Amino acid sequence: MKAIVAIVGRPNTGKSTLFNRFVGHRRAIESDIPGTTRDRVFGEVSFENIPALLVDTGGLMFGKDEKGQSEESIEANVQEQSHIAISEADLILYVLDVRTEMTVDDFRAADTLRKSGKKVILVVNKCDNPHFEDMKYGFFELGFGEPVAVTALHSFGVDELCEIVAKELKCMGFKAEVQGDEAGVGAGTSKRRIKIAFLGRPNTGKSTMINGILGKKMLVVSDVPGTTRDSSNIDFEYGGRAFTLVDTAGIRRSGTVESGIEKFSVLRSIEAVSEVDVCVLLIDSEEGVTNQDCHISEYVLEEKKGLILAVNKMDLFRTEDSDSEKKVEERQHQLIHELGDKMAYVPWTPVVFTSGKRRTNLIPVLDNAIEVFDARNMQVDPSSLALWLDRATEKHQPTQGKDKKAPKVFSVIQDGTEPPTFVFKCNDPKTIHFTYQRYLENSLREAFGFTGTGIHLVFKGPKREDD
Ligand code: GDP
Repeated sequence: MKAIVAIVGRPNTGKSTLFNRFVGHRRAIESDIPGTTRDRVFGEVSFENIPALLVDTGGLMFGKDEKGQSEESIEANVQEQSHIAISEADLILYVLDVRTEMTVDDFRAADTLRKSGKKVILVVNKCDNPHFEDMKYGFFELGFGEPVAVTALHSFGVDELCEIVAKELKCMGFKAEVQGDEAGVGAGTSKRRIKIAFLGRPNTGKSTMINGILGKKMLVVSDVPGTTRDSSNIDFEYGGRAFTLVDTAGIRRSGTVESGIEKFSVLRSIEAVSEVDVCVLLIDSEEGVTNQDCHISEYVLEEKKGLILAVNKMDLFRTEDSDSEKKVEERQHQLIHELGDKMAYVPWTPVVFTSGKRRTNLIPVLDNAIEVFDARNMQVDPSSLALWLDRATEKHQPTQGKDKKAPKVFSVIQDGTEPPTFVFKCNDPKTIHFTYQRYLENSLREAFGFTGTGIHLVFKGPKREDD
C-alpha cells in the first residue's frame, strides 16, 4: 500500500507551493486546455523512492458547488480537510508561515493533530533568509519537536524535508521501490491482464457495482491455484479476457455506512490509480458532476491511465408512469452536457449510464474497459501512420509564426504504448503552435481511435543527438 501524506495548514501558508515543489516535475496537463487550470489536489510522489500519494488539503473542496460558498463555509471546509487528513493520512505535514504570529487556532489545530496519534512534521515556510530560519525555534511550543525550515517558493529546505519524511515512512514500514522493477513489464502485450479500478466519491455506488459485476457473470478465479485473491486484488475473466480488479481498502465492505467526515474522502479510492490500466470513475447521476469528480479525472489523466465515466444510479430517474423513458433521456442529455462543460479536457472518454443496484449496463463498462485497454496498447502500422500524416498536413498546414519561419512536419513514428506516444520530426519544434498540435491529435484520434486514453505527442527537430 502506498503512503498517504497530507499537507494541512491555514490558507496562505504556502501549502500549494510546497505541494507543487514535490509534484511539479510531473505536471502533465497543459494549462491551455479548458477546465484543467484548477489547482491539483493529489499527486503521486516518491520520498527517496518510497511511493506516496501527496494530498494538498487546501485544494480539496466539498459540496456540490464551491462557487456559492461563503467565507465561513470556506473556513468550515478547511476544518473538514484537516479532519480528513487526520483520518486518512499516514503522515501529516503541518505548514505554518514563519512571518505570522501563532494564534490560539494554531494551538487548537496542533492539539487536534496530536490527539489523532498520526505522525506530524511541522514545516515552517517562507524562511527566505537566515534570520527567519532562526525564528523557526519559536514553533517548538506547538509540541511537534524541531520544525523543518523551508522556502517552498525557492525549494530551499525541500530536499531535507523529503529526507525526513522518507525516514519517518520507513519507520512506519513503508518500503522503497526498486527502480525499474515492474515498470513496463508486459507493455505492448495486449493480452495480458487488464487491471481495473473503480473510483469515485463515497456513496457513488462503487461497492454495489463491483458486487454486481462479480456476482453476475462472472468467474471469480480465486480458488484456482496461481491466481490471487488477497485483500486488494480480485481476478476474474470476461469476454475471453483476464481482469484484475484492484480494490481499495474496504471498498467491498458493502453496506458499511461511513459516517461524518470520512464520507467525503476519496483518498483511499484513488490510491489504486498507479497500479491499474483503466479507471472507471463513478459519478452520481442525481448529484451531477462535482469538483471532486473533476479532481479525480484530472488525476487519472496526469497518471496517463485509461478512463471510463460511469454515470451511476440512473434507476432513480425511472418511474412507474408513462413518461419514465423521457425523464431518463432528459437527464442523460443534461448530464452529457454537464460532462462536456466540466470535463472538456477528456472528450475522448466513454460514458456509460449505469445502475449498479439494478445491474443495468454493467457489461458495457467491461466492454469499454477492454476497448480502452486495447487502445492504450495499439501499435499503428508505420505505413498507415505515414499516409495519415501526408493527408493531415495536406489538409491543414501549420501556420507561419511571426518570425516568418514556415513550420514543417516531415515524419512521424510511434514510439511507445500505454499511453500511445508519437514522435514528430519537424524543422523547428518551437514553431509548432499548440493549436496545430491539437489538430494533429484530433486527426490521429479520428483516423485510429484511441478511445478512453490520453495520447502523447512529441515534437523534435531534425538534428538531435538522441534521435
Ligand atoms: P460506495 O461508497 O461508492 O462503495 O457506495 P455503495 O456501493 O456503498 O453505495 C452507497 C449507497 O448507494 C447504498 O445505499 C447503495 O444501496 C446505493 N446505491 C448504490 N448503487 C446504486 C444505484 O445504482 N442506484 C441507486 N438508486 N442506489 C444505489
